[in-house]
Parts: sequence; C-alpha cells; structure tokens
Amino acid sequence: MFWDKEIELLPREDLEALQLARLKKTVEVAANAPHYRKAFADNGITHEQLGSLDDLRRLPFTTKQDLRSGFPDGFLAVDRSEVVRMHASSGTTGTATVVYHTLKDVERWTDLVSRCLYMAGVRASDVFQNMMSYGLFTGGLGLHYGAEKLGVMVIPMGIGNSKRQITFMQQFGTTVAHIIPSYSLKLLETFDEMGIDPTKDTGLRILVVGAEPHSEEVRGRIEEAYGVFAVNSYGLSEMNGPGVAFECPHKSGIHLWEDSYILEIVNPETLEPLPDGEIGEIVLTTLRREAMPLIRYRTRDLAMVMPGTCSCGRAHRRLSRIKGRSDDMLIVKGVNVYPIQVEQVLMGFEEVGNNYLIVLDRQGPVDEMTVRIEVTSSLLAQGLEGLEALRGKIIRSLREEILFTPKVELVEPGLIPAGEGKAVRVVDNRPKE
Ligand code: ADP
Ligand code: ZN
Repeated sequence: MFWDKEIELLPREDLEALQLARLKKTVEVAANAPHYRKAFADNGITHEQLGSLDDLRRLPFTTKQDLRSGFPDGFLAVDRSEVVRMHASSGTTGTATVVYHTLKDVERWTDLVSRCLYMAGVRASDVFQNMMSYGLFTGGLGLHYGAEKLGVMVIPMGIGNSKRQITFMQQFGTTVAHIIPSYSLKLLETFDEMGIDPTKDTGLRILVVGAEPHSEEVRGRIEEAYGVFAVNSYGLSEMNGPGVAFECPHKSGIHLWEDSYILEIVNPETLEPLPDGEIGEIVLTTLRREAMPLIRYRTRDLAMVMPGTCSCGRAHRRLSRIKGRSDDMLIVKGVNVYPIQVEQVLMGFEEVGNNYLIVLDRQGPVDEMTVRIEVTSSLLAQGLEGLEALRGKIIRSLREEILFTPKVELVEPGLIPAGEGKAVRVVDNRPKE
C-alpha cells in the first residue's frame, strides 16, 4: 500500500512540525536567489522569524510574472555548477518559464513520483508505457524516472504515433500507461480502426491521466472504454512536474504531498485564505528543493480542499479535481463560464462522442457561444430526428449550467481536430478589447 509508509502515514501534527522545519530551511536557501533576496528584504523577513506555519502568510507570493521577470537565473539559489537539469513549462499561457534542479532535487522528485505510482497500485512487475512528450515537458522524464525507480519496465514512447503505441502495448504487454486524457479518448478511434478492443486485447489496468483539466465524466468514459483505473495526476513544471498530487484508489480527491509542499487555497482576488470545501487558487511552497525553491507560488489553478480525511489513512490533504486555470475562465454575455462546466454537461449524454469545441464570436455588441460536439456513429445512423432531439436536450442542460442559451452544432465523429498534446477546447474569435 505504501511506498514511504512513515511519511505517508505521518499524523497531521507531526506533518506540520516537519513542514515548519522544512519551511525555515527553504526560506534560508531561497534567500540566496536574487529575486527572494530582494523580496525578503522588502518585507523585512528572515527565516529566523518564522515561529509557526501561520507565519507563512508574512512571506510574499510568487507569480508567474515574477518567474518571467526573473528569467533565466533570478530564482536560482545555488551555484550554477550544482544544477544537473532544467525544464521549462510548455508555455500554454505565454512565455515559457524555466526551472532548475540539482541532483538531489531530481532524486527527491523521482521518489515522489514513485510514491504516487505505488499508491495507485503500480508494482515492479508492471510494464509502463509513457505516452507523454519527452524533453522540456516534465511529464516525460518525470514519470519515466519515477517508474524506473519503482522497478517497472518503462517503454519511453513519447507522444503520438498512435498505431505504434497500440502495437507496442500488445507486443510488450503494457499494463500501465501515462497519457493525456483527451488523447486517450482520441486514441479509441485508432483502436477501432485496428479492430483491437482495449479492454480485452491489451493488458492495460491503470491509466495515469493528467496534465489538463478533465471532468469526472471523462474519467468515467476512459475507465469504461479501457477497463482500467484512470488515476488523476496533478503537477506543474514550477513545482517539478508530476508527483505533486495524485489520487489514491479511494478516488476521493488527489493527495497533495505535504511533506514536500505547503498547500494554501486563497481567494484569487483578495488573496485571503479560504476554508476547506471552497474553490480558490492553489498556492504552493516547495519544501524540499535546493536549486529553485519557490515560496507561495500562485499556480492560477482552481480547486478546493476536500473536507474530512481519506479512508486510506494518509493525512496529506486532498484537492478536488482542478476546475481549470483562473485564466481559462470565459466571460460570455457577462457570465463567467469554465470550459469544464460545458464538458461535464456534454459527457453526461451517452450519445455524445469524445470530442467537443467551444467557439466564441461576436455579432455586433453581442457575444455568441457555439458548442460544436461530435456525436456517436450509432446516433448518426438513427437519422435527423434523433439528432434534433439530442440537440434540444443538450441546449436545455447547458442553459441550466451556464445560465444562457448557447448554439449547439452536432457533427460526425472525427470532425473536430484533436492533437496528441493538451487539448484546445476554446476558439475565441471575438475582437480583442
Ligand atoms: P503549462 O503551464 O505551460 O501548461 P505545465 O506542463 O507545467 O505547463 O502544465 C501544468 C498545468 O497543467 C497545471 O498548472 C494545470 O493547469 C494543468 N494540469 C496538470 N495536471 C492536471 C490535472 N490532473 N488536472 C487538471 N489540470 C492539470
Ligand atoms: Zn486516500
């Protein structure tokens, strides 16, 4: 059950004592980096003044913009000669940011990933196919090292090449794969073309899915289509990458490893802390990083802490599914909408296929939202009446969720372009203000 039993089962009190000790050390080391040297001096704070975890709130936040301004070495807290690796975020929302690691950083990161995989049920006898891009993106090397350390045979496939992925799964008996959730649904079309049933003709039993927001409904579809446990993996380059938070088999939230990170959820506008059960911005402080410690990093990801404790016995708190990034929020007709809300509604209909796209336009002064949705081939075969009935149902359900009436277009399976990386769910054609 446990990779690191002592740490995973640490009672809350001891976990917090450990956090405080590690926070002091982190702040001491961070002060070597030009950015924090200045920021701490401006705040008049040193590690010696940290008497309790509440004192964390006296420390400044770090934003993505700070990372960009500090590019490339403003956050480096050790001598360059100690750095053994760099990664850069994929730049989904702007200029890339760089993160450095010492050898110890890589080892600790690796161990966190092993811990996650082990918790999900991966064992040395498994065969692990890593279908994420290698290189600067952390999902490749991060999972690779963690799986190897666990003793698993790793197939470093990288992204794409769908037919070959499937052939390898069969030839080498892949039991665990790491894959982007939207791509895992897309890949079903290739399985279909090849006449291979993922539930019967492969040995897959666990899919590690993460790197992009996905609803519980999408997880359900993946689990059913593949006959697996689709485990939710959350991470971001700034915090290493994968290995930050992971689901346990109880499927009731993703445990964030609090021996390695301090978790805060804040109101993104007021930056005040929010109680468990309320959705806000995830703010993280690294506790075990040498090359590039980050203090109160504003991830822009939105989630809540699940109230209560998990039956697995781990005191490390659980995050809910990520709702998206604060900058994923769309303002349409004055209403705030997250793409994931649309996804939840769509994926609840079994006649809806596995891909969709939200298109925003402006007609005169008025916003218009069109949701383009692939339907299943069996619905198509039933003809126009069935399609119209479904369209009506979807419009009504979407209106209930997002509080205005979108246009809905139903299209044939495969008509909406889908890549192998993080899915693009929104095309905004509205003129920039
Ligand atoms: P970029 O920020 O350029 O996309 P990263 O590869 O570091 O680069 O991506 C990390 C981000 O991906 C997270 O901040 C979050 O928005 C998203 N993400 C990662 N894992 C998940 C997950 N399991 N659920 C939802 N979103 C996720
Ligand atoms: Zn648990």
